[in-house]
Amino acid sequence: MQQEAKAVTTSAGAGARLVSAGMSPPLAPPPTENAPVAPRGAADAAGSKLTITVLGSGTSTGVPMIGCHCPVCTSADPRDRRSRSSLAVHYDEHHILIDCSPELRLQALAAKLDRVDAVVFTHAHADHIFGLDDLRRYNSILGGPLPIHASPETLTALRRFFPHAFAKPAEERLFRPELEPHPIDGPFDLLGTLWRPLELPHGRGAVLGFRIGAFAYCTDCSDVPETALCQLQGLDVLILDALRPKPHPTHLCFSQALAIIERLKPRRAFFTHLSHDVFQAEAEANLPPHVRLCYDGLTLTPDVRSAADQ
Ligand SMILES: [Zn+2]
Ligand SMILES: [Zn+2]
Ligand SMILES: [Zn+2]
Repeated sequence: MQQEAKAVTTSAGAGARLVSAGMSPPLAPPPTENAPVAPRGAADAAGSKLTITVLGSGTSTGVPMIGCHCPVCTSADPRDRRSRSSLAVHYDEHHILIDCSPELRLQALAAKLDRVDAVVFTHAHADHIFGLDDLRRYNSILGGPLPIHASPETLTALRRFFPHAFAKPAEERLFRPELEPHPIDGPFDLLGTLWRPLELPHGRGAVLGFRIGAFAYCTDCSDVPETALCQLQGLDVLILDALRPKPHPTHLCFSQALAIIERLKPRRAFFTHLSHDVFQAEAEANLPPHVRLCYDGLTLTPDVRSAADQ
């Protein structure tokens, strides 16, 4: 893919800036019938072959949980072993990591993720960032700083938790992550492909979901508000937070996630951030055939064309 889009960050200005406390104003106006949905010149994944690797599909404790001997935590089904939620997105020989779970090293080894060209963060909860120190191996492999993209609030939290990763190169060469921060304030070009952030509520906090072409990843959300619903039309594959069957204050439960899928009608949907209340096989037997559960190591190749185009 040509890297023709140089500066696609929205020029919507202050109105498009992220607001951590509330859900408004939106990142970008929802698309309307006659309005182009992509900034001019951005390559909206069309022509790219997109591959997704689910590195981790579990909730913040992981499954099995420490000290729990319930049927799911002791299940013999390898899909019931869930490391903390994280994703790798591959296109045009680029590898982009979404979040740095505490199991990043183990996930990278299992998925043979030998190179990462950039990291995108959904939010700064511990289960999504506490593997960050392992990024230093990717610095070594790249031979330079690693670009990271996150909301201004998430970048502030990352600087607080990992000040050494943002320090200027020291006299003494320490083996540490070296990160180049890029605040997300609207749709952005990442290595030639357009990423659209979606601001979603996560209980009283906020999280970013991402749409890349006809694929979207929305983890750690307690709702998908109307603005985001408009931006998630015509998907081929949607990965959506669905913690467990029972409701939860900061995550979607199964029935809420199914209601959102029913509205959006993606060709396929996958639940993620699953808890130890969920047996993979049993849950899938009770879901519609186009809705499945993520598991660690699952790979997907979403059609980059909109489902509506097919
Ligand atoms: Zn989480
Ligand atoms: Zn358990
Ligand atoms: Zn979270």
